[in-house]
Amino acid sequence: MRAFEFSRPQDASAAITAAAQSKTAQQGADIRFLAGGTTLVDLMKLEVETPARVLDINRLPLDKIEATSDGGLRIGAMVRNSDLANHATVKRDYAVLSQAILSGASGQIRNMATTAGNLLQRTRCMYFRDTAMPCNKREPGTGCAAITGANRMLAILGTSDHCIATNPSDMNVAMAALEATIHLQGKKGARAVPIGDFHLLPGATPERENVLEPGDLITHVTLPPPKSGSKQHYLKLRDRASYEFALASAAVVINVAGGNVSFVRIAMGGVGTKPWRSPEAEAALLHKPANAVSFRAAAEAALHNGKPQSENKFKIELAKRCLTHALQTAVNS
Ligand SMILES: Cc1cc2nc3c(=O)[nH]c(=O)nc-3n(C[C@H](O)[C@H](O)[C@H](O)COP(=O)(O)OP(=O)(O)OC[C@H]3O[C@@H](n4cnc5c(N)ncnc54)[C@H](O)[C@@H]3O)c2cc1C
Ligand code: SF4
Repeated sequence: MRAFEFSRPQDASAAITAAAQSKTAQQGADIRFLAGGTTLVDLMKLEVETPARVLDINRLPLDKIEATSDGGLRIGAMVRNSDLANHATVKRDYAVLSQAILSGASGQIRNMATTAGNLLQRTRCMYFRDTAMPCNKREPGTGCAAITGANRMLAILGTSDHCIATNPSDMNVAMAALEATIHLQGKKGARAVPIGDFHLLPGATPERENVLEPGDLITHVTLPPPKSGSKQHYLKLRDRASYEFALASAAVVINVAGGNVSFVRIAMGGVGTKPWRSPEAEAALLHKPANAVSFRAAAEAALHNGKPQSENKFKIELAKRCLTHALQTAVNS
């Protein structure tokens, strides 16, 4: 690991002022916030991330889970994944979020990992983590080793000729289905970004993964009030039962009235270059009978634009079955 300067800002404005001196908030950032460290420290050891300064934000008072005045939930950026997944309100009203977080990583990692860190975790594409290999995300303009290489785990939705890496987070998928809003504090003040606009498609600039600017600190995430009477489910399919990233996953929130779907939110993981909300699947399902035929039609719509690579064609059918099963499990629950 390269040498770096380490400090612990005492408040959010000191952290923002210090981080705002970074040339970028993205790949190659020379100043980085440290939360749980479970992504950042790994990447610093691999010399994929080489910040000159690390700002430990663990002392900032951003670790509360609170009800909002409109009946929703406010989740501090530093809330640990374990605390969020096991919070009574989350388990009762946002079960899909609890299930998604608990399906990821391990107990020890979830005890360290934070809400903001999870939103910003980097891809697990093996070439991104290997500085001997070309990778447009790590080193813009060098090429993409995965497109002609080992791409079994990588994306089939939202890819470009420059990058096909998946967003690996489970939490982000549930946040997308729950229509979370990310709250930022930066040089120019506060702003709120819907999760669907927070992560960026790779396009020709895969090194830019989100809308953060230098100095931007995620302060909290809000969830809208829970949809009354909704059934929720997160299903994750992977190569082994635990401690493994998704090949395909689905987060669903669904209401059924008189046998028909009256409300539905669908997001998928393991298949997209960002947490993949599927308006196509939602539109295909709304007002249709809540049965296997409709669920399969929704899954067909979700994967309609799927573009497999040499090793991951299987993900198309796997993802369809994943979504179908998640919907069926939710309505049966
Ligand atoms: C072995 C292993 C297995 C894993 N398995 C899974 C899995 O199955 N599913 C899954 O979803 N995840 C998995 N993970 C990833 C894990 O969930 C993430 O590493 C974790 O959520 C990152 O959170 P952190 O607080 O440790 O982030 P950090 O490593 O501290 O930070 C990550 C990034 O976020 C930035 N950052 C942190 N906080 C802020 C803030 N408030 N504002 C702005 N920027 C900020 C940091 O500068 C850094 O760039 C796994 C990780 C490991 C090591
Ligand atoms: S898929 Fe993206 S992260 Fe992986 S090698 Fe290609 S450019 Fe790099």
